[in-house]
Amino acid sequence: MLSTTKSFPQKFARAIFFNVSALLLSLILSVVADAEDPPAGGENSAKKIVVCSTTQIADFARNIAGDQWEVKCLLAAGQDPHSYRTTAADSRDVAGADLCLENGWNLEGHGWMRTLAESSQRPIQTCVEGITPLQTEDATGEVKDPHAWMDPENAWIYVKNIRDALSKIDPYNADLFSSRADLYRYQLKSLRVWIATEVNKIPVQRRILVSHHDAFGYFCHAFKFEARSPQGWSTAELKGVSPSKQQEIVKMIRDEGVKSIFIETTLSREMIASIAKEAGVTIGGELYSDAMGPKGSAGETYIGMMRENVLTIVKALK
Ligand SMILES: [Zn+2]
Repeated sequence: MLSTTKSFPQKFARAIFFNVSALLLSLILSVVADAEDPPAGGENSAKKIVVCSTTQIADFARNIAGDQWEVKCLLAAGQDPHSYRTTAADSRDVAGADLCLENGWNLEGHGWMRTLAESSQRPIQTCVEGITPLQTEDATGEVKDPHAWMDPENAWIYVKNIRDALSKIDPYNADLFSSRADLYRYQLKSLRVWIATEVNKIPVQRRILVSHHDAFGYFCHAFKFEARSPQGWSTAELKGVSPSKQQEIVKMIRDEGVKSIFIETTLSREMIASIAKEAGVTIGGELYSDAMGPKGSAGETYIGMMRENVLTIVKALK
């Protein structure tokens, strides 16, 4: 017959076993509890940092990140992303980033933003991901036009990519990012409707937009303009414009009866002034192209820069 009583050493061993098991169980529970705590980026932790290449992307990021993240921008207002040369301070900013944002399609000449992020092993999101590209050409052949933000419908895809990238790293604040993105989407939709109404004041045959370089391809595609520029899609490699190219543009301006041509705020006014003089047309004003305006200017936000561009274009061409 099996005994139900146990000797003293057996009881002692069993007590130790249960105590050790309880200790292990409490350790496991505490590890599980830690894993279920809100991830870093919660209300009480230090702010995470997103570092953006261009001013437009930084504006989108500020609209989505709100007060939860710090948003830094490497380009200053009015700086040209094609020809930008990075600095030691940029490398330090990127090394401290929780997320980097680039435009992509080589807007950042020679991919400088990606190079910075990869050399510091920081995560990077390309904002044009998911946009249908317009093709353009340079000496190397067909390339994707990187100025996609010029159509507010594409700006929404930038915003969506930024929302998703922030939420992936900071799921604790994902609902906030999502609500802000939804609200910003309404603003982008209103902007697009407003632009379509405003540009209707310009007769279709006068919708030719001449500026330094092909920054307005997506704007022109969306709002039925023709984009013409002496400098092609990028300002990075070209050292000015050949006399024959300039003559070609001057002839087109005369043949098409173009009233006014435009200066871009990121580029020198000399070339456009010389073309305007030769063609005998006026300068219609300055347009924000690859960068927004400085703080306090009408173009200090994406929506502000688009609004000011449209007002300038309509006033000059209607
Ligand atoms: Zn450009």
